[in-house]
Amino acid sequence: MEQETVYTTVQAGLCCGCGICKGICPKGCISWDKQNGLYVPKIDEKFCIGCGLCVSVCPGLGQNYETAGTAADTVTGSVLGCFNAWSKDSALRNVSASGGVVSTIIRELLTSGVYDGAFCLDSYDYRDQLKTRLYTTEEVGTRWNESNAPKSRYLPVSHEKAIMYIKTHRNTRLIFVGTSCAIRGLQAAIKKLNLERTQYLFIGLFCDKVFNYNVISYFEDTYSPDAPLEALHFKNKESGGWPGDMKFFPKDGKPFYRPLADRTKAKAYFVPERCIYCVDKLNVCADISLGDNYTGKDESKLGSNSVIIRTQIGVSAWAAAKDLLEIRDICIEEIQQAQALDWRLDNLYFGDLKAEQIGNGLDLNDGVPREKEPELFTQDLKNGLKKLRAGAVYDINSTELQKQIRKDNKKPNPAVKFVKRCYSYIKRRIK
Ligand SMILES: Cc1cc2nc3c(=O)[nH]c(=O)nc-3n(C[C@H](O)[C@H](O)[C@H](O)COP(=O)(O)OP(=O)(O)OC[C@H]3O[C@@H](n4cnc5c(N)ncnc54)[C@H](O)[C@@H]3O)c2cc1C
Ligand code: SF4
Ligand code: SF4
Ligand code: SF4
Repeated sequence: MEQETVYTTVQAGLCCGCGICKGICPKGCISWDKQNGLYVPKIDEKFCIGCGLCVSVCPGLGQNYETAGTAADTVTGSVLGCFNAWSKDSALRNVSASGGVVSTIIRELLTSGVYDGAFCLDSYDYRDQLKTRLYTTEEVGTRWNESNAPKSRYLPVSHEKAIMYIKTHRNTRLIFVGTSCAIRGLQAAIKKLNLERTQYLFIGLFCDKVFNYNVISYFEDTYSPDAPLEALHFKNKESGGWPGDMKFFPKDGKPFYRPLADRTKAKAYFVPERCIYCVDKLNVCADISLGDNYTGKDESKLGSNSVIIRTQIGVSAWAAAKDLLEIRDICIEEIQQAQALDWRLDNLYFGDLKAEQIGNGLDLNDGVPREKEPELFTQDLKNGLKKLRAGAVYDINSTELQKQIRKDNKKPNPAVKFVKRCYSYIKRRIK
C-alpha cells in the first residue's frame, strides 16, 4: 500500500516548518513553498517513491508524552535537577536572550572538545527562511559573543541541514538547539537513521509559540514604513535590560527600539496554527531545557535562565559547564507556575477539537491526561483561529488584519454577553 507523505501534515494545517522531512527524504524531492506566512514542504510527485519516511519523523502530526500523574506533571517531564542560572561571562550574558546559559554551555563543550559541532542560527535577517547551520570549535572559540548565534528568534526554523549532515557524518558528536517540536523531529530522525542517541546533546528552549514570517512585513509596515528592515532582534537588553525590547535595524537608517508589548500584541494574529495545539512548552524530550527566569527569584535586568536537567547526557553537559555559571537552586513547582503551565494546557483541548475535525484517530498530545471537556473550548478556538487567519493572509490582504483588530477592540455589550453566556450554559446542560 502506498504510504502517506507530509502532504497530509500540510493539508491539515499542522506543519510547524521544522524541515526534518526535507532533510530525511531519500529522494531529495521536497522543496519549500511559502503559504500563509509559513515555509511548508512541497513534494515533487515525479520523484517521490512513497516510502513514508518523511511522515514517520514529522512532529506536526502528533506528539507523545509519558504520563507522569497530572496533566501539568506530564508536560513538565523528567526532572533530574532544576536551577536558576546565568553566565559569569558578562559580555556573553549581555548579547544573549536571557542569561546566556545556552551560549556558555555550547562554547565550553566545543572548546573543550567534548562535542565536535553545534547547529545554531547565524542571522537576524528574516527576509529568508531561517535554517540552523553547523558551528565548529574553531569558529566558536572566544568570538562566540561577537557572532550572530545568540538571542531568540521567534520564527519557525528549519533543521534540514542538521539532518543532511548527520546522514553523512554518522560518528560526529553534535549539539542541537531547538524548540520542542524541532527536538522531537530531530530525535525521531536519529532513531530512523539508526544513529547513536548518546553522541548528541539536545538543548531545548522553552517555547510559547513562534510567529509566522508575515509578522516581519507587519512590523516593517507599522514601525518602519519608510525603510525595509535589514535585521531585527526580537529581544534585546541594551535599552532597558531583561526581558528586552525589540531592536529594529532599518536599511540605511538608525536602529531603534520598540517595547516588548508590541511583540506580545502581535502574537494573537501571527502564529502558525500548529502552535495553538501544542502543550510542550518545557521541551520535555531535551537533555537540558532552558527558558527565561520568570520565577521572581534571582531575576536581574542583566538576564537569567530557568534550567531543567532531564537526562544523564544533560547531567554530564551541566557538570562540564557549571564552573562558568552562577547557579541557584529552585523548585520545579516554581518553574511550572512561572511558565503558566496550567494556562498552556488549554491547548490540549484545542488539539482534541482539531483532531476530532481531522478524524483518523489522531491524538495531537498523546499520553497527557485530560481533565476537562474539549467542548468548553469550542468558542475560544473559533475566536483564536479567526485572528490567526488575519495574520496568515497579511501578505496578500493586509486589510483583514485591520478589520479583525477593530472587531477585537470593540467592547462587548455586557447585556449581550450575559445572554450569550446563559444560552451556552443552557445548551450545555441540555446536552
Ligand atoms: C520560539 C521561542 C519561544 C520561546 N518561548 C519562551 C517562553 O515562553 N518562556 C521562556 O521562559 N522562554 C522562552 N524561550 C526561550 C528564551 O527566549 C531563551 O531562548 C532561552 O532562555 C535561552 O536563553 P540564553 O540566554 O541561554 O540563550 P542564548 O545564549 O542567547 O542562545 C540562544 C541559542 O538558541 C539559538 N536559537 C534562537 N532561536 C532559535 C530557534 N527559534 N530555533 C533554534 N535555535 C534557536 C541561537 O542560535 C543560540 O544558539 C523561547 C525561545 C524561542 C526561540
Ligand atoms: S516534518 Fe516539520 S516541516 Fe515537515 S511537514 Fe512535518 S512539521 Fe512540517
Ligand atoms: S514519501 Fe519518501 S520519497 Fe516521498 S517525499 Fe516522503 S520521504 Fe520523500
Ligand atoms: S509552540 Fe510547539 S509547535 Fe509551536 S514552535 Fe513551539 S514547540 Fe513548536
